[in-house]
Amino acid sequence: MQGLVSSLNNAGDMGADSGSAPGVLPRRTSQRRRILVMMALSYVIDAILLLIFAYAGTIPVTTGPLYLLISLLTIGFFTTLSDASVTDRFTDNYLVTQQTVVSISIMLAFIYLAPEVGCVFLCSLFVVFAFGSLRSTPWQNAVSLAIVTIGLAILFLLTDKPIAMPLGSHTERFATMLTFVAAIGRCMFVGMFASALRESFYNQGVRLQEAYKRIEELAELDELTGSHNRRSIMKALDEEMERAARTRMSCSIALIDLDWFKKINDRFGHPTGDEVLRTFAITIFANIRSIDKFGRYGGEEFLLILPETSDIAAEQTLNRLRMIVADLDWSTISPGMAVTLSAGVVTMRQNETADSLLARADVALYQAKDCGRNRIERG
Ligand code: GH3
Ligand code: MG
Ligand code: MG
Repeated sequence: MQGLVSSLNNAGDMGADSGSAPGVLPRRTSQRRRILVMMALSYVIDAILLLIFAYAGTIPVTTGPLYLLISLLTIGFFTTLSDASVTDRFTDNYLVTQQTVVSISIMLAFIYLAPEVGCVFLCSLFVVFAFGSLRSTPWQNAVSLAIVTIGLAILFLLTDKPIAMPLGSHTERFATMLTFVAAIGRCMFVGMFASALRESFYNQGVRLQEAYKRIEELAELDELTGSHNRRSIMKALDEEMERAARTRMSCSIALIDLDWFKKINDRFGHPTGDEVLRTFAITIFANIRSIDKFGRYGGEEFLLILPETSDIAAEQTLNRLRMIVADLDWSTISPGMAVTLSAGVVTMRQNETADSLLARADVALYQAKDCGRNRIERG
């Protein structure tokens, strides 16, 4: 059941143009083949029932084999089309309508040819519709229903065929009972299949949602440090400035730059420099509030957004962070290593733009560098 579910499931996901993806066409072909095998088995069940009726003397012994021959020929025809990838040219690569119409025609023809066991083919019509509706659009279902209605109307109203449910002998009663059980069983199987399909679609939806969320997260994060990337931190800056303007709360930012980082790279190597950047980012994250936003502005320069924070509080925060970073035991990364930061801190003015705020922070940062580094300057 699960394998079949994944068959229809995968096939259902694929649009007509996805057929060009590598491996899709052979997979589709094998999925169609599995469905065709299921249909063939269903015809075999009917043929067995017909043989039992033949044994009971209700119909000639040739009816069952003839029915099986015709139905398997149609299955063979659709399998050939499928294997030759002819069906892939159609939007509905299962050719549901065509297969349903062919199956309906077989059933109607045999009701006409062997009306004594009409119940076998009438029951099979239910099975055909159950299978067909799995992949049919409402429009396709309507076409199939119209065809079967016309066919049955002709058989029931325009002919005097004695369409029967044989109950004359014990064997006939047994075969008729089996006919119903087999039809109910097959419809039940299709129902279970449909619900497994629904569950599988649901799970797939959940997995897609998770993957989408993860992609969104990854698109906003800096790969090396796990902090916001530049695009994301700039977006956050716009949002926070907008909020500050709306709520008339103060909002401060800091441009943070690691001191002499080029020397760290030169002395300890680039991979160690990366490790320093990671450790630095983790340290900052561990020491800011959840409402603060921290992201990589470029290279070894970071932007910290401190919403609802006055200039004095922001300067205090940055000095606290500066001391935490300076006091960290960097020698665990490489003996003899020391890392410090400099930062320019500014607080948003009325109607100020993000560019102006960042420019002021940049000036303050360079003041901090000019004044000897490992320090905070307020702009
Ligand atoms: P200053 O105190 O004036 O900021 O000196 P500095 O050496 O830190 O400044 P500079 O801008 O000259 O050097 C920054 C260095 O940061 C140069 C660049 O190789 C390094 N860098 C930028 N991005 C990365 C990175 O992702 N990984 C590593 N390891 N190094 C980086
Ligand atoms: Mg630097
Ligand atoms: Mg720099």
